Order: sequence, then C-alpha cells, then structure tokens
Amino acid sequence: MEHPLYLYNTLTRKKEQFIPIHAPHVGLYVCGPTVYGDPHLGHARPAITFDVLFRYLQHLGYKVRYVRNITDVGHLESDGDEGEDKIAKKARLEELEPMEVAHYYTVRYHDAMRALGVLPPSIEPQASGHIIEQIELVKKILEEGFAYESMGSVYFDVEKYNKVYGYGILSGRNIEDMLSNTRTLEGQDEKRNPLDFALWKSASPEHIMRWPSPWGMGFPGWHCECTAMGHKYLGDEFDIHGGGLDLVFPHHECEIAQARAADGGKPMVRYWMHNNMITIEGRKMGKSLGNFITLEEFFTGNHPKLQEAYSPMTIRFFILSAHYRGTVDFSNEALQAASKGLSRMMEASSQIRGLKPATKSTFDVKKLQDSLSAAMNDDLNTPEVIAILFDMVRLVNRMKAGEETLTEKDLKQFSTLFQTYTFDILGLKPTSEGEDEDRREKSFSGAVDLLLTIRQHSKEQKDWATSDLIRDKMAELGFVVKDTKEGAEWHLNN
Ligand SMILES: [Zn+2]
Repeated sequence: MEHPLYLYNTLTRKKEQFIPIHAPHVGLYVCGPTVYGDPHLGHARPAITFDVLFRYLQHLGYKVRYVRNITDVGHLESDGDEGEDKIAKKARLEELEPMEVAHYYTVRYHDAMRALGVLPPSIEPQASGHIIEQIELVKKILEEGFAYESMGSVYFDVEKYNKVYGYGILSGRNIEDMLSNTRTLEGQDEKRNPLDFALWKSASPEHIMRWPSPWGMGFPGWHCECTAMGHKYLGDEFDIHGGGLDLVFPHHECEIAQARAADGGKPMVRYWMHNNMITIEGRKMGKSLGNFITLEEFFTGNHPKLQEAYSPMTIRFFILSAHYRGTVDFSNEALQAASKGLSRMMEASSQIRGLKPATKSTFDVKKLQDSLSAAMNDDLNTPEVIAILFDMVRLVNRMKAGEETLTEKDLKQFSTLFQTYTFDILGLKPTSEGEDEDRREKSFSGAVDLLLTIRQHSKEQKDWATSDLIRDKMAELGFVVKDTKEGAEWHLNN
C-alpha cells in the first residue's frame, strides 16, 4: 500500500495511521438510532459517514465486522439519568406497546437508510435483546468495586474510577470542572456524587419496560448497551468506535469508563471517530425552531422550508461534499447545487462508456488514481475525492471533444477508477431505479393518451386518413383500443 490510511482519533486528538489489531479483520462499532421518531438528517450523517468507512475498509481488502445498534430501551429524555424513557413515553402517548414503537421506527429507519444507499451493518443488535449481557456488565463493575447499589438502582462511582484510571480521557473534561458546573437536581439523592451515572435503574410497576435483575425490577442505563454489545460481538478490545460528536460526552466517556472498570483497565477501543453536526440555514436543528425536517420530508419536498423535493442521492452527495469532521449547513441553494453536481457526475459516468480509445494517452491515469487514494487515506477526505472526480468529469468532456485521448488500456483503467470511487466507495447510485421506472411509465401513458386525443380530434374533423393511420399503427404496435361513451380506452395486447 503506497499511502497508508490515516484516521483522526478523538482520543489522541490527531490523525493516526490505522493499524488493525487482528488484520485482515477490522471491528467497527457505531452508535445507532434511538427508535422513537422518524429518521432525520442527524441520523443520515453518521450512517453515511461510517458507511463510507465500511465500504472503504472493504475496498482496501479488510474483512470488516460492522456492528450498529438499535436503542430501544434505556435512553431517557434528558440523555442522563432523569426523565422518562424516550420510547416508553412515545408508547404511552400513542397507546402502543413500546416494542410497537421501536419496531415501527426501526422499519422507517431501515427504509430511509436503504434509500440513502447505506449498506446494512454486519450485526444490528437491539438493547432490549441484550439485557442479560448488560446485567453481567453491571455485576462485573460492582465486583471490581467501581459501582454501588442504592435503592434498587446501581450507580457508577466516577470519583473512585477517576482515581484509578482517570475519567474524561475522551472528552478532555476534568472532574473538578465538571463538579463545579453540576447543579444538584431533585431525585439525585440516591447518588453519592452528582457525576455518578446509572448502570441500572430501578423501575416501579407503572413502568412498562422493566426486567428482573439481582437488584430488583428495572432497566439498564443507556451507556451500558454499547459497552455490553460491543464487547459481545467485537471482543474486549476492538479497532474503531464511531458516532456523532454529541455522543463524546457523556455517552462515549461512560462507555469507556464502564469497559475499563469491568475489564481491569483494558482500553476497549483503539480509534474513536466522530462526525460533526448538521445545521439548517445556520441554526441547530430543533423541533421548537421549525427547522426540524425528516428524511421523508426531504425526499418528498413536503415541508414549508423546502422549495422542492431532494432525492436521497442528492442528500448523500451533499453530506459527502463536506469533510465528516466539519459542520454541514443545509439550505435549498446548497441542495440545488448538489443536485446539479450529482447530475453532471452521473452524466459523465454514462458518457465514459461511449468514449473511443486512441493510440496514445495525453494524461496520466495513474496520477489520478494516486490522488484519489491519497484523499481517502487522509482521514476520508471525501470533498477532495469529489473534487478529483469533477476533474475527471472535465476530462471526459475534453475526450469527447477530442482534446484529450487515452489508449484502450488507460481508458479502461480511467473508467474503472471513476466507477469504483463514485459507486463503490462514495456509494452513490445513478438514480433510484424505481423512480426511473415510474417516470417512464408516466411518460408512456401520457404519450398514448395524447395519441388517442389526436385521433378523436381528427375524427371530429372528419379527417379519416389521420384517424385510420393512428388506429392501424397502434394495432400494429400491439395496442387494443376500445371506444366507449367516456372516450377511448386502451391496453396492450398480451
Ligand atoms: Zn452508543
């Protein structure tokens, strides 16, 4: 490999060469959605970012086990230890069984991800299916002395852990600063220290999602699932853990603390990767700001902020036009520009097939290949990859005009390179095949109806020659036309 892959590691705050623990195998864990609402842009960005990583690692020849969980229990409204479970609340409001809510939104999430060209992960474990593993993790942390039981709940002892291993290594926060910024909230008297977080929460009978445990009926704390499932499917130390930047603290910090406390200080993960956030017209996306747009609303254009519908591939292309560690700001103008850019790329891709080889090459395909792989290896620099692909689009146009040429071998290599980066690595698709078929169907019916209107018109004008010509030609092409009181009906002869 000429350029090794470098990835930015949040833990060390620098780009590091990626060296898998057990090459050619790579273990990748990414925090998936909490399934209590329709998927939106905030779900699309991590899914697409880590989909490109998943695709690229496979392109490099690694065998990747990609685990992306579904959070269907334990994620409370405050993202902390207080408030109602997000899924249980939705279930209560809609008078549904919590698993109906979780299942419904899991299906919606999968549909949206498929439309966005996101490959399914290798394993997609659900938190509710791993209660036993989470209880085992809590027991282990208790045994190691880094947790305590209080009124049927179990809390992680942050201060004690901090003394042994140091708390805050991922987020760079220190415990004294955190303590001075912590308000004592009501109902936290069960904890020895306000920074302690719940590993297991006791639940009263009115709670609809609860399980038996050594500490009584309850449910696992949100951070437990990823530590327990990551450990189960990827081992006690694995290569990459990813997620959105908003998960660094507390979620990922707590995941690390739990794993190290349970496992005698083993680091759990080598490379921590985080995608940055998305803003809409310069503002954070939020239900109260009126700029909360679901993916379906983007795909249909059905939202007051949207001037038109944007295809899933336009959304994907737009997200990849920015580096995953930079912010992305959505606006109609930006999406329209992305849509045009994507069309140009797709057009060039189909034009490459029609190019004729020449006896000599006027530019170096190998150089393009090197710069594409250098860009991907530089912490997945997709905007740079897209810029090089646009250089290739310009070269396609120059070749069409006869201003540049390639030999047969180079042309083949050029074509493979363009297709590999566009479709296999960036994961773009020409257009949704279904959409295309619908459009063709509509145009076809419209054209036949138009023909029948002309025939009707010529009959009224007593232009028998034209009406007979249309009738005979249509019959020849296999159309069966029936005149009824409501007008002409048609179908295709089988
Ligand atoms: Zn997680």
